[in-house]
Formats: sequence, structure tokens, C-alpha cells
Amino acid sequence: MKAAVLREVGKPLQIEDVQIDKPGAHEVLIRTRAAGVCHSDLHFIEGLWPHPLPAVLGHESAGVVEAVGAEVARVKPGDHVITCLSAFCGHCEFCLTDRMSLCVSPETRRKADEPARITQNGAAMPQFLNLSSFAEQMLVHEHACVAIRKDMPFDRAALIGCGVMTGVGAVILTSRVRPGETVAVIGLGGVGLSAVNGAAIAGAGRIIAIDMSPSKSNLAKAFGATDFICAAEADPVKTVLEMTKGGVEHSFECVGLTKTCEQAFGMLKRGGTANVVGMVPVGQSMSLPGTAFLGGRRIQGSMMGSNRFPVDMPRLVDMYMAGKLKLDDMVSRRIKLAEVNDAFAEMKTGQIARSVIVFD
Ligand code: ZN
Ligand code: ZN
Repeated sequence: MKAAVLREVGKPLQIEDVQIDKPGAHEVLIRTRAAGVCHSDLHFIEGLWPHPLPAVLGHESAGVVEAVGAEVARVKPGDHVITCLSAFCGHCEFCLTDRMSLCVSPETRRKADEPARITQNGAAMPQFLNLSSFAEQMLVHEHACVAIRKDMPFDRAALIGCGVMTGVGAVILTSRVRPGETVAVIGLGGVGLSAVNGAAIAGAGRIIAIDMSPSKSNLAKAFGATDFICAAEADPVKTVLEMTKGGVEHSFECVGLTKTCEQAFGMLKRGGTANVVGMVPVGQSMSLPGTAFLGGRRIQGSMMGSNRFPVDMPRLVDMYMAGKLKLDDMVSRRIKLAEVNDAFAEMKTGQIARSVIVFD
């Protein structure tokens, strides 16, 4: 099958032939129908986060089940599924205490002495984030996908698999925004727009969207923002503190920079919570004023929206079908697998929301 392979940090992905194994007892073979191009993939291409190479990237996808292992009961061939990188074992400390998105059990991966899921001319290739979605097929653990209703379009379903779950989940599940509360979202890529949308669904009173690009203003409002601040033109912390007369109850950093994490904390009201949703590069630290904690302010990480994806993703699909979750405006371009490098080049300009690879 064809796949987009990262061979070397800083180099474009290459479209190559790779081989995929048959499903083991708890595995599912999926025909990929759509794969979103997520900012996190770029972090690995640029080497800000390390991964063994060569590897097939991609981790935000939807497709059709082709075959399942003998023990798989939750999905069957023909089912439409969304994948999730938060593969969970179901019985570790995290899984049993309502924090399954933190599960790191090796059980959902193949053991070192087993044949690899993906190979190339006999050589094992490491699977990227349990998925490797930039490929015509995916072989995943049964706890890395969930069946969804068949009237859901694949290109929009794919987005739920990472960016939308991460953004909506940060608001609703991690920070638990209540109706009427005030929210700020920094960075309006796919994740940030989803956080804005999640805040609107949660009933937040005021939703302040912040981005460096002034062209994101209309998009932010379409997703439910009540206010927009262009961070290239005004200091976002000062502006938010003035606009809200003292700060917001929840802030969401959806960029992955230490500076914007510090800003997210700096714009909190007393008792407010800052959520770090973006991926800060390995080795970087942030600096926070110690006295701010005396006002009961908090800062916390939000991993993949604290998802319980087998429950949450079908609900997000229903929200989209009911017109509450905005996904149509998030897909800025539909491309072929061979055009994946163009999508990363465009992403670096900060203009587009999301490119989605569509497979025939
Ligand atoms: Zn992602
Ligand atoms: Zn677990």
C-alpha cells in the first residue's frame, strides 16, 4: 500500500510502498478514507518532538473496517470508524479512574518479539502514535477506534479523531466550563477553533478568540467566539484583562509555545484555570509569577481533551449532524496523499484551518 513516510527530520515526506500485516486477535484492519493533517505531525517533521524513523506519520483519521481479529467484538467489517491515538488497555490505574486518555500500557502495541504491524521490504517500521494514518490502510488495536453512524462524512469524521476531540474535550472534559463563564482561546488552528466551538456548546457567556492572523476573526465568530483579539496588533493579556475587568475563568493555549502558555496564565481571573493544550517543544520551560497562585489560579495540561473517545466521539458525530458542532468550515482543503507536503507548507503560513487527505 502507499504511505507518506518521514525518513529524516526536516525533509519532506516521501510517498512509498509499505506492507501491513493481518490483524492479530485484538486488532482491526481499516481502509483509510480520510486523514487530517494536524499540527502535531509538523512538530515531528521539524524534530521538536522525537520519533524513531523512518515512520508513516498521520494520526487523525476515519475509514472502513476491512477485517478484525478473532477476539474483536466492538467493531466488524463494513463498520465506519474514527481512530484515536489514545489507545487504552481498559484495566490499568488510569483506565479504571476515569483518565483513560492517560493510559500508556504497552498492551495496545505489538511486543518486540512479534512481527511489526507495518514493514517495508521485510524491515519493521515503528507505528506513529498507535495509528500511522497517512496510508491507504491502518492496522490498529481494537481500543484505538470506535464505530460511528454511516451517514457521517469521512473527511469531517477524521477531524474528530484528534483536533476536534482535543479542543472540545479541553473545554468540556478537562476544564469543565459551566454556562455563563468567560473563556479565552489562544491560537485558532483546528484545535483552537474546536475549543471555541466547545465553549459555545458548553454555554460559555463570553468567548474571546486570540490569534496572530487578523484573517481568523470571521472564522472565530462562525465557531462561536464573541470577541476577537489580533495578538500581532495588541498585547493579548492586557486586552483580555481590560475587556473582562479582571480576567477569564478558563483559558486554553492551543499553540504550543511557552510565551502563549504564560499569556494564558496571565489573563486568568482569581480562581481561574489555564489549560495547556498545545505541544510545547521538548526541553522548553515556562516562567510564571508565584504570587498569582495566591489568587487560587491554576495551570494544567489537557492531553487529547481528557477523552473517553468510545463514548465522546459518537456524541461529537451526533452534535455535528444536529448542527451544533461546526466542522464544515474547518476543512479548508481536500487533497490527495501525494499533496501532503503542500499541506504542511501551507500550515506554516498560519492561514488555513485544516487540510484533509481524502483517499479514493
Ligand atoms: Zn493531532
Ligand atoms: Zn490502561
